[in-house]
Amino acid sequence: MKLNHNYSSLTANYLFTEVAHKVNAYVEKHPEKEIIRLGIGDVTQPLVKCAVEAMQQASQEMGTREGFHGYGPEQGYAFLRQAIQARYAQWNAAVDQTEIFVSDGAKSDLANILGLFDVDNIVLVPDPVYPVYVDDNQMDGRKIVYVHGNRENSFLPMPDPTIQADIIYLCSPNNPTGAAYTKRQLESWVEYARAQDAVILYDAAYESFITQADCPHSIYEIDGAKECAIEICSFSKIAGFTGTRCGYTVVPLCLERQRMRLNPMWRRRQTTKFNGVAYVVQRAAAAVLTQQGLVQIQKNLDYYHNNARVLADVLHRAGIWYCGGENSPYLWMQCPGQMTSWQFFDWLLENCGIVGTPGAGFGACGEGYFRLSAFGNAEQTEIAAQAMQQKLMECFG
Ligand code: PLP
Repeated sequence: MKLNHNYSSLTANYLFTEVAHKVNAYVEKHPEKEIIRLGIGDVTQPLVKCAVEAMQQASQEMGTREGFHGYGPEQGYAFLRQAIQARYAQWNAAVDQTEIFVSDGAKSDLANILGLFDVDNIVLVPDPVYPVYVDDNQMDGRKIVYVHGNRENSFLPMPDPTIQADIIYLCSPNNPTGAAYTKRQLESWVEYARAQDAVILYDAAYESFITQADCPHSIYEIDGAKECAIEICSFSKIAGFTGTRCGYTVVPLCLERQRMRLNPMWRRRQTTKFNGVAYVVQRAAAAVLTQQGLVQIQKNLDYYHNNARVLADVLHRAGIWYCGGENSPYLWMQCPGQMTSWQFFDWLLENCGIVGTPGAGFGACGEGYFRLSAFGNAEQTEIAAQAMQQKLMECFG
């Protein structure tokens, strides 16, 4: 019997364990002090009314002979795929319903999609990175090469034609940096992927946070992207579905490599290994994409955007370099006083009672940087901002 030894080469996920360990030690030492958590990647606003009502109604239906639903259509119910298709149409991105596969969220699809690709492929990953991309590929034993995000490129690394790649990960707006690619930048990536005969795995989990007109919501807004890109998206951050679980993956019909079409391959994979998302949840997701639903989720998105603005103002006033916040719930700041990201973690906790996420946990290029999340409560974010402003000015102003 042989186990998958790639698991022993995984880097241990110290980031959140170490954060929890340090926070617990601080709380024990200062039981009287309140901690404000700006490290969270989870949403905090409740589900919008129309999603809740749709779930209630669907649950009622499920309890009747006429309205009961057993196994659903393999790619997801037509009512949800139609709603997703209509959303793409608004962005002038033509997507056929047979290209849309409803899933239980982006994280599982990001891992499962790799089953379509041989392990003998080179994977290109921008650093800093959502660590899941790296771990998924290390588990399979693929070779990973990195492109570097830094202050000079505003944490939006561009393709390097001298680097050979078969699979390319892009995440825009990005976790952890909050940076979002413009249309022109994505055009360069599509051009590069086509020249390399590579496939882009485009993670659009944060698309609804985009406010800048020249940042596409979908890679398919770029000409030629359908011949080289798979898009993975989620209702988690768009509509607070982190605990409800619903997402979708778009695999274009024209995406073909080595005379094999990836759409029927993915359909075959899904019909064999996946049995769909609950009817009740798909009804809630479709409700979110109605006109009324979009208005309701926008209120939550505005709430998070406002938190981001409050934090951005502090960094701006303190003269600290940062990116993100505008098209994202994340702000990515340079640590003041040339501190490492863990040194700044300790400083922020000790001086302001704030917990954030050290950039080093997202890759080598994250060292010296720090992620603040706008997913928290507005009052707490205000309090955190005031504390930060005062201490940053005092120590580094
Ligand atoms: N992609 C990115 C970039 C994320 O930050 C996350 C969650 O934090 C996910 C995907 C996972 O999303 P889901 O909840 O749909 O699995």
